Amino acid sequence: MKDCIFCKIIKGEIPTNKVYENDRILAFKDIQPQAPVHVVIIPKEHIPDVEHLNAENASIMADIALGVKEVAKLTGVNQTGYRLINNCGKQAGQTVFHLHFHLLAGKDLSDRMV
Ligand code: 5GP
Ligand code: ZN
Repeated sequence: MKDCIFCKIIKGEIPTNKVYENDRILAFKDIQPQAPVHVVIIPKEHIPDVEHLNAENASIMADIALGVKEVAKLTGVNQTGYRLINNCGKQAGQTVFHLHFHLLAGKDLSDRMV
């Protein structure tokens, strides 16, 4: 996707602090961290949001799940705990329309909505 910020990060057109990468996913530090550890995990395929997952592309969710575990280990929070967040759609606060999950950790996250 030409005008997608995260596709530009995947192509190396926008620099980023990479945390983990394999052939299907990329994880990098969020530019505006909301916690000491704030990593964004994305598929390399452009999928706008969870609503655009289907029987053909949903296996990416397994890759993301395993990527989350890698990121938690690499950032040293796999034992202490972390929160995973996905915003789907404008009303939920999504601002970049390329599927992504936020991994937040490194501080007390017990204030929560659910
Ligand atoms: P959303 O609000 O869509 O759930 O999350 C988008 C996230 O992408 C935000 O937390 C925002 O800080 C992050 N972000 C937006 N542009 C960039 C960028 O160019 N580089 C990095 N590393 N993060 C970005
Ligand atoms: Zn994209």
